[in-house]
Amino acid sequence: MNYYSLERNSIEVSFKEAVIRGIAPDRGLYFPEHIRPLRSSFFRDINTLSNEEIAFRAMRQFVSPEIPEKILREILAKTLDFDFPLVHIEKGVAALELYHGPTMAFKDVGARFMAHCLGYFSQDNNQEVTVLVATSGDTGGAVANGFLGVEGVKVVILYPSGKVSDIQERQLTTLGNNITALEVDGTFDDCQAMVKSAFLDDELEGRVRLTSANSINVARWLPQMIYYFLAYKMMQDKRQQLVFAVPSGNFGNICAGMVAQRLGLPVSHFVAATNINDTVPQFMESGQYEPKPSSPTISNAMDVGDPSNFVRILHLYNDQLPNLASTFSSYSFTDQMTREAMADLYQRTGYIADPHGAVGYLGLKKYQESNPECFGIFLETAHPIKFRDVVEDTLNTELEVPKQIKAVLDKDKTSIPVKTYEELRSYLLSVN
Ligand SMILES: *Cc1c(COP(=O)(O)O)cnc(C)c1O
Repeated sequence: MNYYSLERNSIEVSFKEAVIRGIAPDRGLYFPEHIRPLRSSFFRDINTLSNEEIAFRAMRQFVSPEIPEKILREILAKTLDFDFPLVHIEKGVAALELYHGPTMAFKDVGARFMAHCLGYFSQDNNQEVTVLVATSGDTGGAVANGFLGVEGVKVVILYPSGKVSDIQERQLTTLGNNITALEVDGTFDDCQAMVKSAFLDDELEGRVRLTSANSINVARWLPQMIYYFLAYKMMQDKRQQLVFAVPSGNFGNICAGMVAQRLGLPVSHFVAATNINDTVPQFMESGQYEPKPSSPTISNAMDVGDPSNFVRILHLYNDQLPNLASTFSSYSFTDQMTREAMADLYQRTGYIADPHGAVGYLGLKKYQESNPECFGIFLETAHPIKFRDVVEDTLNTELEVPKQIKAVLDKDKTSIPVKTYEELRSYLLSVN
């Protein structure tokens, strides 16, 4: 499969090139040259297939021929070795829990898949690849964990000092080995600006082989489509109209679901639920795309003012808003509404949602007001423990600490303080 740049000013590249580059030379996002629907027998027989087999058939065309089939199966086995339960909540509503992986955030699947692909590619590369990533919380932990010990790949994570939670900080500063955490005296935006400068730095080019590990990278973005197939497998009455509600920040997860739909997955509608960072809901109403600086919320992994993957969603619909609107809606919710939904869910059903999942739930309920007959699945993207203070305070209850989190709380932090871009560059040159 080849990938082209959405800016249309770069040559097409192989899957391998797209993964190693991250972004095209013209700064465009890579997009697969075609999406070939899967056979109808695949959907008919899906209940008889293992999760790995489902993932294998969904992903095969996107990584072939650079990842041989045998290797793809091995990578998927390592990527998907935890549960993805579909939990019934109330009539017509279920939660797909994506948080049972090693760092308890849904980003584990994409991060692990990308790590294993890069690890495989680096076997015949003599130059090491350095993955450079800025994080406001969840991405750093998932990337650190996914890439730990992968040969030929170094990971450098920038995070804003004092602005991530204790659990999140430990998840990215306690692993050692090929993972280095740079603690930036500044905000998340400062971290992101430094990463951007490094990618544009001529002096680094040729000396350090840099790639990114956020959802612009096709190896992190595409494997997220697997969730939607697994949900369909677990859905009991497949004659119902299926709707997915996805808590969205950079819109990578929901866009992967829309690719699954192109592969033939019978989804009748997608709902992108956001917090008050409502660039996309506004666009769906006005047709004007107006990015803005992000505002902080309790669902902070979705505090994004200019969602990077939305261009891919538009591209799927040839930039035609009416076509997109026939299968995609987007709604925004305040922190107050999110807390009320968390409390209401807990009181009525006993279900504990994290703030991101609760935004997804709100999006689904809003859609069901005018489409009450559909079967809705909202994605639960983080374990409530990762947002412990908000959840405990809102529900007035104490959460149990899962074993993955207990393990990290005992470890000691190691980070390198960084203030300026010059310091980041010196660091990258000194270790390469
Ligand atoms: C990253 C993240 C999201 C948003 O996912 P996108 O693919 O960026 O839209 C939602 N919830 C949690 C917990 C996340 O970490």
